[in-house]
Amino acid sequence: MVEIRTPIEVNDAIERVMKYAVKGEKTFIPLEESHGFFLAEDLISDHAVPPFDRTRYDGFAIRSEATENGDSRLEVVGQIGAGSVFEGTVKENEAVRIMTGAEIPAGCDAVIMLEHVKETSQGEKRFIEFTRKLTSFENITKTGEDTQKGEVLVQKGTYINPGIMALLATFGYRQVPIVKRPRVGIISTGSELLPVDAALEPGKIRDSNSYMLIGQIERAGGIPVSLGQFADDLDICYDQVVAALDEVDILLTTGGVSVGDYDYIPAILERLNANVLFNKIKMRPGSVTTVAEVDGKLFFGLSGNPSSCYVGFELYTRPAIRNHLHTKNPYLKKLTAQLGTDFTAPNPFHRFVRGKLIYESGNVIAVPVGLDKPNIVTSLAEANVLIVLPGNKEGYEAGEQVMAVLLADQSGIAWNDWLRKE
Ligand code: AMP
Ligand code: MG
Repeated sequence: MVEIRTPIEVNDAIERVMKYAVKGEKTFIPLEESHGFFLAEDLISDHAVPPFDRTRYDGFAIRSEATENGDSRLEVVGQIGAGSVFEGTVKENEAVRIMTGAEIPAGCDAVIMLEHVKETSQGEKRFIEFTRKLTSFENITKTGEDTQKGEVLVQKGTYINPGIMALLATFGYRQVPIVKRPRVGIISTGSELLPVDAALEPGKIRDSNSYMLIGQIERAGGIPVSLGQFADDLDICYDQVVAALDEVDILLTTGGVSVGDYDYIPAILERLNANVLFNKIKMRPGSVTTVAEVDGKLFFGLSGNPSSCYVGFELYTRPAIRNHLHTKNPYLKKLTAQLGTDFTAPNPFHRFVRGKLIYESGNVIAVPVGLDKPNIVTSLAEANVLIVLPGNKEGYEAGEQVMAVLLADQSGIAWNDWLRKE
């Protein structure tokens, strides 16, 4: 049977995938292990920060009214370090020696910096003398200046970075509520593929996609589960997919999605009675990317061409993984840049060119890496953006403003308008 495939728009394909993307469950991990996970709950301040008025500097806590005539001499009645509090109330002609971060003693409303006073003594008594006038709250960080109680500081679904770890510690999260990472299975297909530790043989290549996908899955926030390679026999492959779907949240295959003699994916999906969301997209590379839903799980049949596999993952699988992690921003962030090279050949399909950003005389330039052919693996190493060249145009010239999608960014955006819908 020769199958006719109708290509759909990239945005439609993404929408279809996201309709079936599910959300993961909550679990807890110790704060020190939380980096790179995704918050399962909003982080809300349960107290003001700082929780008390405190001094910004080393110096003396005083009452600002005592400085009104511009020539003060105050008796030093105590000394406190950060973490200590002064008992009692400070009077107008008194001062308390205070260290950075310490709570302002009762009665005081300003701090004179250590370097702005002269310290003197008279018998047992110690004094400070200075000529500055201070205003109320000078050199003091007020209660709640950083944040008030009850504010949502970080939304659920946010990637936990070092700054968020500091916030979690500030609010006493010994255990952090995080979303369980989805388990993402990888099966490679192709009788030409050798394991990574095998010597090369005539007509064979090493399986590089599996390892590339391990990295992409981890970067997206999933747990890669290597499930080996397809057998040559359709019945065995079918059983492999059934077993794999039982074990993982999302299943990826690479290769075998074309209509060649040994391309089993379409036959397996048919036998599974899968809901095929699409099997052809108006994009290059990766036009034969196939996505299906099988009993509530997403199955991504990625192309075997390394670059097609790479792009197909980033466009369709990554947002599904991010959705699983509860983020409101599942799509890759973009910026505008100057195109670094001409792309003169017109192309009816949208192109996603692996590129890198360089900075030249104040401009951000998106330069394609290596040769832009779907079967080229060497160009992927340097790629940190996908340059988006919408189809239906007379080609592109160097210097034109184009969109570049950032591959390693963790914050993301809520919806991609990389491509306007026609
Ligand atoms: P396919 O999608 O199976 O028709 O494969 C397309 C091209 O990608 C062929 O040149 C394959 O040899 C190559 N290829 C397929 N799978 C892999 C893989 N796992 N690693 C590297 N190259 C692959
Ligand atoms: Mg193949």
